[in-house]
Amino acid sequence: MEKQILNQFINNIPQFVWWKDRNSVFLGCNDNFAHTAGLKNKEQVIGKTDYDLWNRESADFFRKIDAEVMASGQPQLNFEEPLTLKSGETRWLSTSKLPLYNDTQEIIGTLGWYNDITVYKQMQIQIDDHNKTLVEYSFQLEQANRELELANIDLEKFTYAASHDLQQPIRTMKNFAKLLKQRESKKLDDTSKEFLDFIFNSANRMESLVKDVLTYARTGSKELIAESVDINKIVANKLTDLKQITESKAAIIQVNLPDVKIKCYSHLIGLVFYNLINNGIKFNTSSPPIIECNYTEKSDSWIFTIADNGIGVAPAYATKIFEPFKRFVDESFEGSGIGLSICKRVANLHNGDIWMEKNPTGGTIFKFSISKKLK
Ligand code: ADP
Repeated sequence: MEKQILNQFINNIPQFVWWKDRNSVFLGCNDNFAHTAGLKNKEQVIGKTDYDLWNRESADFFRKIDAEVMASGQPQLNFEEPLTLKSGETRWLSTSKLPLYNDTQEIIGTLGWYNDITVYKQMQIQIDDHNKTLVEYSFQLEQANRELELANIDLEKFTYAASHDLQQPIRTMKNFAKLLKQRESKKLDDTSKEFLDFIFNSANRMESLVKDVLTYARTGSKELIAESVDINKIVANKLTDLKQITESKAAIIQVNLPDVKIKCYSHLIGLVFYNLINNGIKFNTSSPPIIECNYTEKSDSWIFTIADNGIGVAPAYATKIFEPFKRFVDESFEGSGIGLSICKRVANLHNGDIWMEKNPTGGTIFKFSISKKLK
């Protein structure tokens, strides 16, 4: 009865089972095993050796393991091995081999079984291939990033040098236009004087344009060190710088900012508040212009808002205004179109962003975020 159960078990499990004598001649197996060898049943396997069933290389390997197991008396469990059939097809196996004992505990051969793990192995090979491709892609990406960084540094250096060197000839132009108008005042008629004023004013505008480009090129070009600062103090300083425009337009500026210290690149954050408040007053025909600075605290960031009651921005330009030199106002509003691109750069350097929303009460709300996790 016991033998019958054992036979049933061996013949019905999904594994491939066999046993051999000390010369590695097959003594028995289950039908699964016989079928893999291309034989009908276990009777056809008995008396054969691995050389009769598989290709030479596989048979040599099986013999070697048999010898090791018999010599050591130690089982070898779950090792992976390829099996090449006589047809040339290769299967992958997870094999276990044990010494086979007789009643007097002498080793009389080996007993083994395997699972066919070909599908799993092929998947693993595919995953390995994909991984290799992925590593290659990420290497290429890194390389491209490095090249881009270098190109950016070059571009920044170029912009810096060009705008820096442009300042001197502009100053000379301004000075000589002024000098000419003063020295030759009597000789010049009104039209000529007006032309000289055009030259002077254009040079003036060019000077501030070049200055702004210089600021843009400088933003983030130096190594930045974040420090914990009182934003109220920074903004108060900037409001002093904005005194002239504030007074000339009788603007009202309301400030409600956090009274805890905030880690940021303080000089750059000052520049953002300066630009946004300045724009809020500049692009404003209400009387009085009202600018409100507020904030919201999130778990991982601060969001600052600068709301105005100004001329507003058409929704079509909502993202374009943050690109350098993009302006959507007529010449009566002075400016170079650089301010908001500086703000965007600064927000990005703080792992944040900047965007605008329509102010429900008229005008625009600018919002920018900065991460709380700056190094
Ligand atoms: P600039 O102020 O020198 O024109 P900016 O980069 O600061 O340059 O702004 C780009 C453009 O965005 C402005 O020319 C204007 O069209 C628009 N803009 C910026 N801020 C405001 C604002 N508060 N209200 C209305 N339009 C604005």
